[in-house]
Amino acid sequence: MKTIGLIGGMSWESTIPYYRILNELTRDTLGGFHSAKILLYSVDFDEIEKDQTAGEWERMGETLANIALTLQNAGADAIVLCTNTMHKVAAQIEAKISIPFIHIADATAEAVLTAKITKVALLGTKYTMSQDFYKDRLILKGLDVIVPDKADQEFINNVIFNELIQGQVLQSSRDGYLSIIDQLVEQGAQGVILGCTEIGLLIRRQDTSIPLFETVEIHAKKAAQFLLKD
Ligand code: GLU
Repeated sequence: MKTIGLIGGMSWESTIPYYRILNELTRDTLGGFHSAKILLYSVDFDEIEKDQTAGEWERMGETLANIALTLQNAGADAIVLCTNTMHKVAAQIEAKISIPFIHIADATAEAVLTAKITKVALLGTKYTMSQDFYKDRLILKGLDVIVPDKADQEFINNVIFNELIQGQVLQSSRDGYLSIIDQLVEQGAQGVILGCTEIGLLIRRQDTSIPLFETVEIHAKKAAQFLLKD
């Protein structure tokens, strides 16, 4: 078995399912007492959030690249960055390491295309929805991507930072998300990417009939495939 290096803590609430899914898939595949070989470096999200607000992406890239290198030196065979938003600095991380970087948007695009969906809605933080770094990666893979309007983006972002990252899951926010999803379906979305690792804590498969692409699940599965590959 290989060893996966997780960069987590963004937020820690959403790093927990990565740990669980990697271990479940390892147990289901190998049986017995097998569990996943994982190195986890969990950051202090307060520092990241402040830098995001200040637009200090270069500095965050440097920090995360150094963490990736630390994990590589500790024996990781691949790096998994447990957040969609911070993939904005993926290139800086990739430049620093010589082991594979398992990109969350590539894994997600692959899952969407496998489901034979071409027009997809993207929900995430304001950075992920309003900037190009994530959308472009999906478009490059052949997807047509739509995002909510500005007011809805603000609502989605506020729920992520003020509730989900604080461990609060509210039905009123779930209802708000579902009505935004309905509008996106009216605009032609055939599926919805839950492009923020906390959204899966709020929106579950049973909440809607539209296909959901839960990025933690997809990313962790991709990491497990790498981990268990001969
Ligand atoms: N976990 C989040 C994501 O997947 C948001 C937290 C952050 O801003 O890094 O985008």
